[in-house]
Amino acid sequence: MRIVVTGGAGFVGSHLCDRLLAEGHSVIAMDNLITGSTDNIAHLSSNKNFQFIYHDVTEYIYIAGEVDGIFHLASPASPIDFPTLPIQIMKVGALGTHKALGLAKAKGARFLMASTSEVYGDPEVHPQPESYWGHVNQIGPRGVYDEAKRFAEALTMAYHRIHNVDTRIIRIFNTYGPRMRLKDGRVVPNFMTQALRGQPLTVYGDGSQTRSFTYVSDLVGGMYRLFMSDEITPVNVGNPVEYSIRQFADLVNQVTGNSAGVTFLPLPKDDPKRRRPDISKARRVLGWEPQVSLSEGLQRTVTYFRAAMK
Ligand code: NAD
Ligand code: UDP
Repeated sequence: MRIVVTGGAGFVGSHLCDRLLAEGHSVIAMDNLITGSTDNIAHLSSNKNFQFIYHDVTEYIYIAGEVDGIFHLASPASPIDFPTLPIQIMKVGALGTHKALGLAKAKGARFLMASTSEVYGDPEVHPQPESYWGHVNQIGPRGVYDEAKRFAEALTMAYHRIHNVDTRIIRIFNTYGPRMRLKDGRVVPNFMTQALRGQPLTVYGDGSQTRSFTYVSDLVGGMYRLFMSDEITPVNVGNPVEYSIRQFADLVNQVTGNSAGVTFLPLPKDDPKRRRPDISKARRVLGWEPQVSLSEGLQRTVTYFRAAMK
């Protein structure tokens, strides 16, 4: 297949490009590098099945020739980007998704939208099944991202219903691994860089809020399976093993051999208190579940951060 990956120079997008190429597809990565980097795809530059196009997907997307599939991942994704890039986030979720769906419609291509566990907001149902409608503060600091993704899901379903576009929606839960930006601001890069500098890890609030962490190869595996499946309605993909952030900090200190402990900083507004995916649907319709344990994934990630910080 000839596949377009928007956000292809980002953390997840670049791993997805690797996987698609390994499956024998030809890949066009499209990115405006707002939070991504060509470093993430530099190793693909001599691959004849790979092409990079620098483009902001909120503008009309032109691609010559056939396109069989589109993975739409373009969007800043870290909470540190929410206050600094709120309009870009809303534009890429709305206008960017519109342009990417327009390309899918014009080319008759299958379309996968990268949604997020953030559509559940600060959830009142735990763990979160796909049937839960969410609890989002649309005017709070996270609202720009959450509502952009909720809009993008709605638009994707509208293109499916009205224009018959063959669509998929994946709801991604916290994913980590090599190629995350050192200053990404999300908890894994923060803790990794702090631990490798021998500094205390910055736990926000009392650290009782929970997350579950998916290693990037597991996510990409679930994304590929969903794309190849017939499932139109959203599917959660994430690791269901839940940790408090306090426990997670201790684990990172253990894996890195950091003895500096933790320091407590204020909890950001609207930070979800509990998050864990219900993955029964992914198990049932995709036969997918995560393979990489947190300690194994953290080991691989430490190796990357150690090298990247030199
Ligand atoms: P990332 O910031 O590394 O990747 C996003 C990429 O999109 C970047 O390369 C960025 O430059 C590009 N981009 C942003 N706006 C663009 C635009 N207007 N035009 C073209 N390119 C643009 O983040 P990531 O963690 O790799 O996230 C990838 C996708 O997965 C995002 O859609 C994100 O919302 C979703 N997601 C990720 C996670 C996670 O834990 N990593 C969780 C939930 C959802
Ligand atoms: N967090 C933290 N210290 C940090 C960065 C994040 O305690 O240096 C917490 C944050 O408050 C949240 C969790 O870790 O409860 C995950 O944060 P992240 O930014 O990775 O993503 P989120 O799941 O909030 O979108």
